[in-house]
Amino acid sequence: MRIDVLTLFPAMFDGPMTESMLWKARDRGLLDLRLHDIRDFTTDKHRTADDIPYGGGGGMIMKPEPVVSAVETALSDAPPNTPVILMTPQGRVFSHQIAKELAGCERLVFVCGRYEGLDERVRQLVITDEISIGDYVLTGGELPAMVIIDAVVRHIPGVLGACWAADEDSHAEGILEGPHYTRPTVFRGLEVPAVLQQGDHGKIQRWRREQGLRRTWQNRPDLLLRARLTDEEKYLLAQFADDQAAGQTRAL
Ligand code: SAM
Repeated sequence: MRIDVLTLFPAMFDGPMTESMLWKARDRGLLDLRLHDIRDFTTDKHRTADDIPYGGGGGMIMKPEPVVSAVETALSDAPPNTPVILMTPQGRVFSHQIAKELAGCERLVFVCGRYEGLDERVRQLVITDEISIGDYVLTGGELPAMVIIDAVVRHIPGVLGACWAADEDSHAEGILEGPHYTRPTVFRGLEVPAVLQQGDHGKIQRWRREQGLRRTWQNRPDLLLRARLTDEEKYLLAQFADDQAAGQTRAL
């Protein structure tokens, strides 16, 4: 997969994109990440990429010419329908599903805003998608782009080890993962659950699903409204609720 990122601060990508899994993906040729400094597409001697807003008000606005020119350059050899994604708190909220959707693309272009944002005509002329990483405002689109790239790249076949499937992580099936343990068997009096020590794969799978379900019920009950649950899982949920009610009654 090739990803082009248009930014005023390409050096911000050093570190997150040059370590660990992201670096391995690039080193193995699974990710071709190209950073473009939007200032390289300015035409004046001061390399001006922003200007004051029409109508007054605080903050600066990113000028349209360099951004559109940078997008057109990035797209010059890209297949038609390559997504050009604007990082914006006004976009659709990023999720596991969107990460999988983007991972299916051959090429992606990310446009990182700064200051008060971009001149609206950039959106009208070249943007095909708008994504937010949450309902809060950051100072720039670089961190959101890195978050999205990280989540997308995990879905490219070969990036994660064979036994570490992105499809088994939290959110993949609409619920959260259960707890993990490693050695030692007992740590400060807390023992690894017996089922994990016994090696019965079927039992371990059931236990993990049940624990994931319990954690979702405790931490993110909103996810359960959309999750596809078996009858057994629905029964487990009813049991969690009964256990809680019994606990509350005992406490009274
Ligand atoms: N004035 C804009 C508004 O109210 O919608 C916010 C501009 S913000 C200070 C500067 C840039 O940061 C945005 O253009 C966008 O690229 C990026 N940004 C900020 N918060 C973001 C979020 N939650 N998700 C994605 N991008 C974000």
